Amino acid sequence: MTGVNIGILAVQGDVAENISATRMAMDELGIEGVVSQVKTPEQISDLDGLVIPGGESTVIGTLSLINGSMKKIKEKIASGMPVLGTCAGMILLSKKAKDRVVGEMEQPLLDYLDIKIERNAFGRQKDSFEADISLEKIGIPKFMGVFIRAPSVVDAGKAVEVLSKVDEKIVAVKQGNIIGTSFHPELTEDLAVHKYFVNLVQKKN
Ligand code: GLN
Repeated sequence: MTGVNIGILAVQGDVAENISATRMAMDELGIEGVVSQVKTPEQISDLDGLVIPGGESTVIGTLSLINGSMKKIKEKIASGMPVLGTCAGMILLSKKAKDRVVGEMEQPLLDYLDIKIERNAFGRQKDSFEADISLEKIGIPKFMGVFIRAPSVVDAGKAVEVLSKVDEKIVAVKQGNIIGTSFHPELTEDLAVHKYFVNLVQKKN
């Protein structure tokens, strides 16, 4: 196949929005390839890059554990495949997560990003908000962050680059080829984050 093969993990969450943001980012950059929904370990094993969308991390993690996708994603991460995790996706990529109200829960995690997550750190659905943020380190000085029952990063290890903060809370990180955001770049018109990710996939390829 020519071009890059990017998958959007399609278990639950805002899959369609990520498919369209990734496709548009590729079109604008003139990068060839395919973007498709992936569910099974077989589909994941063929990928050059993966997006894990926002949604409910317990649901996405539990269902992906049962069908073997969690294991396959871990293997692909270990082999250097770039992954973009937005909101619930960032939670799944982390080593440790607890809920602001409920505390620690048994939930399957990919155990890669050396961060501790506080789920629902900014409050409940009604406390969702938008904020101007900056991701200077990856060349995005201004971006509108959409936060929906968003997590924050309460602790980040040495290998983790902090990309952005809101109210002193860490809301975007990068470690190796893995990027996590508390907000939903797929829900804005601005394709900057998806373009950065697609470029990363192409370079790795
Ligand atoms: N609160 C959700 C969770 O903990 C994440 C919300 C989102 O992805 N918008 O999984």
